[in-house]
Amino acid sequence: MEELSKIDREIRELLENKLPSLSERIDKENMVPGSFIETLRDYEVFDPKSLGELMEMVRIASRSSPAVAHLILINGTAKLLLNKKLRLRRKIVAVSITEAGGGSDIKANLSTRADIVNGKFLLKGTKFFTSNALYADYFLVLAITGKGPTLFLLEKSKNIKIEVMELTAMRGAGISVVHYNDAVTESVIGEEGKGLKYALMAINTGRLGYSVIGLGIAEGLLSETVKYAKEKVVFGKPLIGLQGPRWMIAELYSKIDVLRAYIKDILANEKNVDPLKASIAKVLGARLSQEASWISIQLQGGRGLAKGSLYERLSRDSRALDIGEGAREVLLDFIGYRTSKIL
Ligand SMILES: Cc1cc2nc3c(=O)[nH]c(=O)nc-3n(C[C@H](O)[C@H](O)[C@H](O)COP(=O)(O)OP(=O)(O)OC[C@H]3O[C@@H](n4cnc5c(N)ncnc54)[C@H](O)[C@@H]3O)c2cc1C
Repeated sequence: MEELSKIDREIRELLENKLPSLSERIDKENMVPGSFIETLRDYEVFDPKSLGELMEMVRIASRSSPAVAHLILINGTAKLLLNKKLRLRRKIVAVSITEAGGGSDIKANLSTRADIVNGKFLLKGTKFFTSNALYADYFLVLAITGKGPTLFLLEKSKNIKIEVMELTAMRGAGISVVHYNDAVTESVIGEEGKGLKYALMAINTGRLGYSVIGLGIAEGLLSETVKYAKEKVVFGKPLIGLQGPRWMIAELYSKIDVLRAYIKDILANEKNVDPLKASIAKVLGARLSQEASWISIQLQGGRGLAKGSLYERLSRDSRALDIGEGAREVLLDFIGYRTSKIL
């Protein structure tokens, strides 16, 4: 299938051919094996050179392991934000914003505090759904100071405690509850009191990335489904020779092609990802991956429901795309509001 952007041949090979053999284990154990994390570091997967490169890695990984794609994406969104000032080569960064009260209304639910003690900030509070936390060397954390919500960078330390969450989706993405127990930092990202603005920059890239995960899931499911539909014979014909299945596949292929073109168009202006387009792409990507999961399971018949199969894993993961990086309803509200201003 057509690429979103050029990437290193060895990285493509790693994500396309080696990752699929690990993806079931990653999902089962809710963890990426340490040796594979090191391989990803060695291949510079955690040091994207451009947004296009990041999104292409995410697309390929999503075909077999959306969780690994998620890990690459969240680190990448943070690195692209930080790299203007900091170089954290080989390091993995987690993004820690959501709290117990919920992630949609970030500001109202923000209770993690950062108080100045001896010229340094001490962070105290608990975050939920911090992706990458299990593997992270650094944490980007939103906390309140006297000047308002502020984004901080913290290095892993004994004052940061992690409890990995047992979710049904994105298993292995290291999504965790993280306790900051007087965790120390001097590193403010951007301006103190303007943290929401910087957090939203990373979230905006993340929204585009979620649409790419949706695209990758749909591509992965489509290619498996076409393979199956060519081999499976019903009523004396291959499944693909029947009009019903052929139309389902045709519709899926067409929508994938259109979404890929839309994402490529957004990526043409890498330095300035349009929040409206990123939101539209996210809503469409989530919907497309869920449709792909329905079609692929349907055409497999009963065996499409086998536990632990690629279809089952990708279906579960596709569901998360309507929640992470902004719930579907919040994005539709934003799209509707912007539409009312444009038209
Ligand atoms: C896979 C995954 C990865 C994540 N990774 C991270 C991460 O790395 N870092 C991080 O900080 N957070 C992360 N999150 C949290 C994520 O940002 C929140 O889940 C998301 O913002 C929604 O917040 P919530 O789940 O608390 O739902 P709530 O805010 O409690 O909302 C619940 C539901 O209410 C509805 N709703 C909310 N607001 C509106 C509205 N205005 N109009 C209509 N309906 C509305 C929606 O249906 C929504 O799903 C992740 C979540 C998931 C699922």
